Amino acid sequence: EPGHLFFQASCSYRTTTTTTAPPSGGLKNGEEKLEQTPQDGEDIRPEMKDDIRDPTYQDEEGPPPKLEYVWRNIILMVLLHVGALYGITLVPSSSFLLFFCGLGITAGAHRLWSHRTYKARLPLRVFLIIANTMAFQNDVYEWTRDHRTHHKFSDTHADPHNSGRGFFFAHVGWLLVRKHPAVKEKGSLVNMSDLKAEKLVMFQWRYYIPAALVTSLVLPTVVPCYCWGETFLHSLFIPTILRYVMVLNVTWLVNSAAHLYGYRPYDKNISSRENILVSVGALGEGFHNYHHAFPYDYSTSEYRWHINLTTFFIDCMAAIGLAYDRKKVSKASVLARIERTGDGSYKSD
Ligand SMILES: [Zn+2]
Ligand SMILES: [Zn+2]
Repeated sequence: EPGHLFFQASCSYRTTTTTTAPPSGGLKNGEEKLEQTPQDGEDIRPEMKDDIRDPTYQDEEGPPPKLEYVWRNIILMVLLHVGALYGITLVPSSSFLLFFCGLGITAGAHRLWSHRTYKARLPLRVFLIIANTMAFQNDVYEWTRDHRTHHKFSDTHADPHNSGRGFFFAHVGWLLVRKHPAVKEKGSLVNMSDLKAEKLVMFQWRYYIPAALVTSLVLPTVVPCYCWGETFLHSLFIPTILRYVMVLNVTWLVNSAAHLYGYRPYDKNISSRENILVSVGALGEGFHNYHHAFPYDYSTSEYRWHINLTTFFIDCMAAIGLAYDRKKVSKASVLARIERTGDGSYKSD
């Protein structure tokens, strides 16, 4: 039987090799020490010798061996590495869109239009409204109405994504069912006069559906196909669907995770919490206990550039004169609030 043959073969192999005598001299400089291996000394492992270097074996003199290419392996390895390089080029272009759409929500719909925490000149507002349209999360007018209602009536049935109804409802469930009557009733009373007076916001509102379909779904699928030969399916699934779904979920995590998991150092009487992971994903929007306590702070955080790419972006825009009048709560007010309503988790520096 084959197993028996193999056993015999290995036995006979061993008997021939174990008789090989250890080398003695005649080696090049620097190799002498190798001779003083345990094989000269005590026999601490008699059953295995074949991993000990055999200095008696030397290459034959002459030209280096001729290479015989194994084309199957070469082709596979080249394809694998080209594919990986290509993958690297795909991800950043989609990441760029991810960041761009994210800013349309965080710096645009949220910090600029919903909360008026800073002012932006027309070129920046145009940039943000395009990014916001591409994010395809409702037009700025509707997003702002829902969001102001969320802040004003937090944790009641008038809160569109009331986290008291559980993680799933606060995350996406609220978009899958009809609004609670209290949301409609209270939401319709929220003051929206500033947005009604802003031509750019009303322009987006008027042409929203065709504009969102073109910027969010058609362009990111068609442009990579025609401009740099991307396949249709790659364009459809990576910069369009994957990017869209990622921005949606990261935004929703602010409503779900950042209302359920984390400390409440600024106000223990509200559901929103400080959640570092949400801040990482949502470009700085996870400092949510602070944000509900001080909704007028342009950084949505006590800090500025700490895990907060949106604040960094707004500050860059301010440096080139496109953003101004950034509202920041004083340290004294923050400390007074912590003292008055915090949960005691605040670590002072
Ligand atoms: Zn907010
Ligand atoms: Zn909230």
